[in-house]
Amino acid sequence: MTKVYGTGDAAVRALGGVDIAFAAGRFTAIMGPSGSGKSTLMHCLAGLDSVTGGEVYIGDTEITKLNDRQLTGLRRERVGFIFQAFNLLPTLTAEQNILLPLDIAGLQPDRELFDLVVDTVGLRPRLKHRPSELSGGQQQRVAVARALIGKPLVIFADEPTGNLDSRSGAEVLSFLRRSVRELGQTIVMVTHDPVAASYADRVVFLRDGLLVTELYRPTPQSVLDTLVKLEA
Ligand code: ADP
Repeated sequence: MTKVYGTGDAAVRALGGVDIAFAAGRFTAIMGPSGSGKSTLMHCLAGLDSVTGGEVYIGDTEITKLNDRQLTGLRRERVGFIFQAFNLLPTLTAEQNILLPLDIAGLQPDRELFDLVVDTVGLRPRLKHRPSELSGGQQQRVAVARALIGKPLVIFADEPTGNLDSRSGAEVLSFLRRSVRELGQTIVMVTHDPVAASYADRVVFLRDGLLVTELYRPTPQSVLDTLVKLEA
């Protein structure tokens, strides 16, 4: 896919021909220097932004062919999102926040999955609490559970630990890791943190809107070494 913002003299080529697949049931991190196109890539993958050229598929669906209404439906039903800001509704309890996307879609929760997800992210004792009564790490776990509960084909996470201290960040990343291992969830995460990226199965690196390299079984050190080379 390619993505150009603006036209004429103001045109910025944010993605210059990126060809990539993300394996189902795997955790992939997207890294690269600031301005390398990470957010643009994720927004195009998730159908939050249109591409200039090329095609994007989620499962068997070519999302670049869908109209706005179809795209909204697909995002609501097949895609989960986790953002840096937790985006919880302050007046709802943790449980209500987790179930909100299903409520909006008019779907009944699968109670077995709800229990599994709540236990996977360790939220059982906090279900009746409102966001203001939860720590940042706990709030982000609610957001993780909310993303998992609809059994999305893929979860896109944008700097999910960006607002957390390192201990809460590590907890949230462990839960993402567990959801891949135990629930078979597919996760694509943008991060600039080598430690966060090391929780993934695979890290892909962008520079100047192009994929330049990738690592399997990353460690914080191997990710850092790769980043240092890219920025050199
Ligand atoms: P990253 O997430 O790696 O920091 P981005 O995807 O945000 O990179 O940006 C890639 C390039 O596209 C940058 O040069 C940025 O300035 C440009 N860009 C991003 N969004 C827009 C936009 N809405 N309009 C114009 N240029 C943009």
